[in-house]
Amino acid sequence: MLDYHLHLWPHTQHDAPLALEQVASYCERAQDAGVVEIALTEHLFRFVQADRLLAGFWDDVDAPEPLRRSMAEYWRFHVAADLDEYVSTVLEAKRQGLPVVLGLEVDYYRGRMDEVAALLAGYPFDVLLGSVHWIGDWRFDDLDDPVSMAEWSAREVDDCWDAYADAFAELAATRTCDVFAHPDLVKVTGRVPERPQEWWDRLADAAASSGMAAEVSSAGWRKPVAEQYPALGLLVRLAARGVPFTTASDAHHLSHVADRVGDLHALLRSAGIDRLTAYRRRQPHTLPLAERPHTLPLAEPPHALPLSERPHTLPISEPTSSGTAASDGSS
Ligand SMILES: [Zn+2]
Ligand SMILES: [Zn+2]
Repeated sequence: MLDYHLHLWPHTQHDAPLALEQVASYCERAQDAGVVEIALTEHLFRFVQADRLLAGFWDDVDAPEPLRRSMAEYWRFHVAADLDEYVSTVLEAKRQGLPVVLGLEVDYYRGRMDEVAALLAGYPFDVLLGSVHWIGDWRFDDLDDPVSMAEWSAREVDDCWDAYADAFAELAATRTCDVFAHPDLVKVTGRVPERPQEWWDRLADAAASSGMAAEVSSAGWRKPVAEQYPALGLLVRLAARGVPFTTASDAHHLSHVADRVGDLHALLRSAGIDRLTAYRRRQPHTLPLAERPHTLPLAEPPHALPLSERPHTLPISEPTSSGTAASDGSS
């Protein structure tokens, strides 16, 4: 198994310290759970280099003023880190033999992806996640933002899914990224069209035609929708089109690293999927789906135990449907 979607900082944290020890503790927890390799995939918008390139993108679209203001504030709060330092920290972890690859989570910036690709081409990334977290200036998955959540009442669910599918197809067509992150994120609040098959087909077609892999993520179990990404109906459509898969937790702190990896394994097996795809320098290679890994106890408080005091054997528990219902900001 893989954990190919990991963040170093929760969304509630503005400052962005970089420490090799944090990468090492992520690797240790992942390995305890039976994960063979992790990818660090911090948000591009965390970095000052993205700020120089993209700040003000929210003025590209004709959006209601509260959404525009909210996006500008969100952006300002998150920009803190230096991309060069991030890259060198992960490369040092790799050099020391830790099972980690260098990634990034990249949003869709309509009309600006050539510039994004040119920036990213200057770094030795192993894997780039492609994400749609916002539609225009609307952060539809920001559960902690009342302005964003109120917008769900002002729009039809089918229209939201249309806009999401359009944005994803456009992002896929740019071929900027390798892996389709949380493929049906638009369902995050639990609002799903009565007949979602049409949208599942559109998303699966877009992924297949771009050559991207799709991520199977436990993060949805921690959200109001209480279901993994993607839904089974989308998962089987992706598989039928030959789209390869990664697995992921979308953790934003140590306690969620490798979250419910055993449940993801069982899901893949039930859908007839017997291999995963990993990346080196953006080139895919295939891994067999190994024996069912451990499901670690969830929600160990961050930094509850120093590494030296952690038990070396962790209990293997049966999958449960319990998760943290509250938002952990993963996206
Ligand atoms: Zn995301
Ligand atoms: Zn993420």
